Amino acid sequence: DLFGTPAAAAPAPPSHVRIARVQLEGAAAMELDYAIPAHLKDEIVVGSRVMVPLQNRRMNAVVLELLDDSPHRGRLKEIASFVAKRPMFTPGLLKLARWIAEYYLVSVHTVLRTMLPQAVRDKPGSFVMDSHLRLLREPPPEEFEKLRHKAPMQARVLDILRSCRGEATLSQIRRDLPRAASILKPLLKAGWITRSEVRVERDPFQDEAFLPTQALTFTPEQQAAYARVSAALDTSGQTRPILLHGITGSGKTEVYLQAIARVLERGGTALVLVPEIALTPQTIERFKARFSDRSDRIAVLHSHLSDGERHDEWFKIHEDRADIVIGARSAIFAPLERLGIIIVDEEHEPSFKQDETPRYHARDVAVVRGGIEKCVVLLGSATPSLESFENAANGKYELLRLMQRTDGRTLPLIRIVDMRMERRKGTGTSVANAGILSEKLRAAITSRLEKKEQTILFLNRRGFNTSMACLACGETIQCQDCSIPMTLHKHENRLVCHVCGSRRLPPSKCPFCHEPGLKLAGFGTERVETVVREVFPHARIARVDTDTIQRKNQLRDLLRDFRAQKLDLIIGTQMIAKGLDFPNVTLVGVLNADLALNLPDFRAAERTLQLLVQVAGRAGRGEVKGEVVVQTYAPHSPAVQFSRHNDFEGFAQQELEQRRAFHYPPYTHVVILASRGKHQTMAEFALQTLHRRLLEGLPEDVLIGEPAPCAMAKAHGQFRYQLLLRAAKIRPLCRHIQQVLQSTSLPADVIVTWDVDPVSL
Ligand code: ADP
Ligand code: ZN
Repeated sequence: DLFGTPAAAAPAPPSHVRIARVQLEGAAAMELDYAIPAHLKDEIVVGSRVMVPLQNRRMNAVVLELLDDSPHRGRLKEIASFVAKRPMFTPGLLKLARWIAEYYLVSVHTVLRTMLPQAVRDKPGSFVMDSHLRLLREPPPEEFEKLRHKAPMQARVLDILRSCRGEATLSQIRRDLPRAASILKPLLKAGWITRSEVRVERDPFQDEAFLPTQALTFTPEQQAAYARVSAALDTSGQTRPILLHGITGSGKTEVYLQAIARVLERGGTALVLVPEIALTPQTIERFKARFSDRSDRIAVLHSHLSDGERHDEWFKIHEDRADIVIGARSAIFAPLERLGIIIVDEEHEPSFKQDETPRYHARDVAVVRGGIEKCVVLLGSATPSLESFENAANGKYELLRLMQRTDGRTLPLIRIVDMRMERRKGTGTSVANAGILSEKLRAAITSRLEKKEQTILFLNRRGFNTSMACLACGETIQCQDCSIPMTLHKHENRLVCHVCGSRRLPPSKCPFCHEPGLKLAGFGTERVETVVREVFPHARIARVDTDTIQRKNQLRDLLRDFRAQKLDLIIGTQMIAKGLDFPNVTLVGVLNADLALNLPDFRAAERTLQLLVQVAGRAGRGEVKGEVVVQTYAPHSPAVQFSRHNDFEGFAQQELEQRRAFHYPPYTHVVILASRGKHQTMAEFALQTLHRRLLEGLPEDVLIGEPAPCAMAKAHGQFRYQLLLRAAKIRPLCRHIQQVLQSTSLPADVIVTWDVDPVSL
């Protein structure tokens, strides 16, 4: 049962009793009606977590609605008890859950599960407790002396308490006296100390201090943008979402900060979403520093927190002890009340889309939540998604622009290097690094090293060589479970699959034709590092990718060294593309701009432009003008050309024409139906069956493709097929898909998934 069906059970309550419609938690995704017993009638509200009887069991459930009547009235069982008095879901979040369920074709139950962090779901209220000990009075001196002889540990506890002004927690005392807990009783009994239980917050920012910052005086552009945001904040009731299109360094964050300050002044709360990868300590620090007078009222939610920290941060919001929440995707479900503003920074980022069920897009959910909570929604980006840009163009969103950097400097100079020419010349660079470092880039790095300025080299691909192919038969060595070429990681001498992580020794001859001539092709960051070290033997170099950075602190330390100019050059993947601000970096090299461009996706050009603009934003943030060198085999592609002139709007216009002509988003919605399974024929058959059923009674404007193997036809040992549907109107299409899914039985060992508004194909 995919979507849950209402059902109900026995005994008869008196007629005046109200009824609660609840959503069961746990495996059964059902909505049921229960009578509210008299003793709970004033306490149960929408969102309460309750215990209900079901058959012979008791189950947890969430109250979705309070009703005066039910089709099953007279046969309803009663709610047994409260699980938690305070509702786990605000009324706004429950409404939002219903919207998400309907839009993304999932059950409300699944959405409610997603809305709570796992630690909160599994063990709500599992706080770390500690004993707080206080010295009430000291024993008279002679008694103290006796104690020192008779019970030295007890005397020691009193001494410690004396030395910390009469109070300490048990865990503090245990640092000196590990067995302290066992000897407290006599001290309590004698009336010398008291003990009370306290909660210990697991605070991710414990021991960190933040230097307060003051609001900056706005530039005229910022002032104009802020005035519009502030006018929206003053409007009671619904306002249009605002798209803040501002180039890197134009001071978007300052606008966010002052908008939040205004919301707080008026007693509201603020929610800030940032892509996980940009949620660096520096980002959080900026907020903590500006609101340092209430930095304990800032909650943070992201995946680097421990379960315990996440639990406590969530409860901090839940118990109304936070009024600013900063987080990644799932923070959109933070149970804040009195929401005044939701800010989505880097709104174009594909990582706002969840890649498992429910496949929601946090930016779109933010817009809907804003509508429900009647608060301001502010989307910011240097390269807005074409969806949001079109919404601004057609007036659904308000568009605000920041086109100048706050420091008045011009954007970095962008040079395009045509790598096809570089190949032909074949000079300067040795054969080993042909196609990796162009002459232009090499010269640019040399001059930075001479001037003691810093360089970032960017390549979104790990490993040494990206493929190993046979010169005789042309076969490429692929992962056996995933249909992609395996990447050579030279340091560990293994071929690695970047999808499933499986590893194998590089073979010495072709596994297909058994000829020995295997050729390595393509390059990743590992090989770039080798080449750069070879060419610049005296430069201080580091590589930043998931192979070299295993722990969170490693990245922080490395970036700190880079900032302190203990390194001249770093080579990295997208780990270094976002949000980093190094004043001494005057050169950024993009080693292969075509990686994103060659993706089989209608968004390939959009992604390339976003990446180039993003990476270019890392150059020239300080006193000296920056330079960006972009190496590409497609120098004339629109993404490369428009990014060169930092002309986002020109790009958007041209790209939108294409999208319109070929019926792609934002002019249509896409839904992908996908199947996967161990048996190829079964996986394909499942999708063919659905395809056939979908054709019957297909709503009018729907474009439907044929089932086809995914770009990665096999992953993790499962064969994968997909079917693309497009329609200008999403609702009729989704209703049709839902009907077909519900009424079609599919082979048991095939998994069918669907993705509404996917961000990649
Ligand atoms: P964005 O988020 O658009 O990339 P930031 O908000 O990070 O831009 O601002 C870039 C830099 O400019 C930051 O160092 C910030 O402190 C500074 N800045 C922002 N607004 C102003 C202002 N009005 N006056 C001076 N400096 C500013
Ligand atoms: Zn694999």
